[in-house]
Amino acid sequence: MADNKRYDSQLDGAQFDTLAVRAGHKRSNEHEHGEAMFMTSSYVFGSAQEAAAIFGGDQAGNVYSRYTNPTVRMFEERLAALEGAEQCVATASGMSAIFSTILALLNPGDHILSSQNIFGSTNVMFSKYVSKLGIEVDYVDLKDVDAWQAAIKPNTRMLFLESPSNPLNEVGDIRALARLAKAQNALLVVDNCFCSPALQQPLKLGADIVIHSATKFIDGQGRCLGGAALGRSELMEEVVGVLRSVGPSMSPFNAWVMLKGLETLKIRMKAHSENAMALANWLTEHPNVKSVYYAGLPTHPSHELAKTQQSGFGGVLGFEVEGGREAAWQVMDSTRLVSITANLGDARTTITHPATTTHCRLTEEQRLQAGISDGLIRVACGLEDIEDIQRDLSFGLANL
Ligand SMILES: *Cc1c(COP(=O)(O)O)cnc(C)c1O
Repeated sequence: MADNKRYDSQLDGAQFDTLAVRAGHKRSNEHEHGEAMFMTSSYVFGSAQEAAAIFGGDQAGNVYSRYTNPTVRMFEERLAALEGAEQCVATASGMSAIFSTILALLNPGDHILSSQNIFGSTNVMFSKYVSKLGIEVDYVDLKDVDAWQAAIKPNTRMLFLESPSNPLNEVGDIRALARLAKAQNALLVVDNCFCSPALQQPLKLGADIVIHSATKFIDGQGRCLGGAALGRSELMEEVVGVLRSVGPSMSPFNAWVMLKGLETLKIRMKAHSENAMALANWLTEHPNVKSVYYAGLPTHPSHELAKTQQSGFGGVLGFEVEGGREAAWQVMDSTRLVSITANLGDARTTITHPATTTHCRLTEEQRLQAGISDGLIRVACGLEDIEDIQRDLSFGLANL
């Protein structure tokens, strides 16, 4: 049987759960069962001639970990399999995934059309740094496909959105926006951080590029930063070029952590979603809660659309209390278990006051237009027992 040894899995036709634990795994000659962590900045060559051949591109091989690293490659191949992407490029953070994509694929004079309510740092990146490249950004209402169409300019080369939105759970029609982008010869870029590929696969809905902050649900345990851009190879090779020359590459340690995160992503997203659904129902019944924003609720305006493009509603919800900032802060400060932090996608439940943290850079008018009132609280449900999360929120709510 010596010729018949098989160390690696064959994954033709394998389903999501199988790919999540096995895709991308390349074993070394040590036949390790788990994924190896290649903590090395560079690689040796067998001879000067081999070095020349690999540098010259005549022979495949690793040169330097800013270019390629086997552990990072495993993470890229696994995430690509889960998103249904031809190629994935891992980056040091979600922000560097977005910036590298823009730097790689747009030119001075191009125009980006973005949904209004996006991650705060993305907003700052657009206004302060992307603008320096001579690229203008305009903002439109995520939900309003006609508004997207009306705002398109002859030089619009990218439509950028996050869906569902943070924290109101508004949903953009990815299929319709993909058609718009295609007609305009623009790229549709979806930041899929809130759903992860376990709940939404934008490339299959027609998007050209998916962006991840792997820092959130992909790691899932608040340990390290990472990001990714995914799409067709012809586009991703340009992003690879930026990584090689600009340097926002993912570290092999972080890639190893993220690889492990992908193995449990689907069961975690299911548990996050179940907790959020239960919490949304509980909050809806609570006499001191004014409104609840969770697309899993049939009363949410985006519920039906969400069902056509997501297989779950995710772990993040918003709710509003009467009494503005003071009341919202009281609810937060009365908790004893959940973490007061702006992060999300962690095994630990986090609670945030968007108006004074994640959305504090907006003017009051912009905030109210985006639906971020002073009484709004965001909860990113973790994996604790739901009754403990509810009890923790009940202390402050009872006293309003
Ligand atoms: C956190 C986040 C980012 C940025 O990711 P980092 O890994 O923190 O750089 C981008 N988009 C969304 C939606 C996020 O939540």
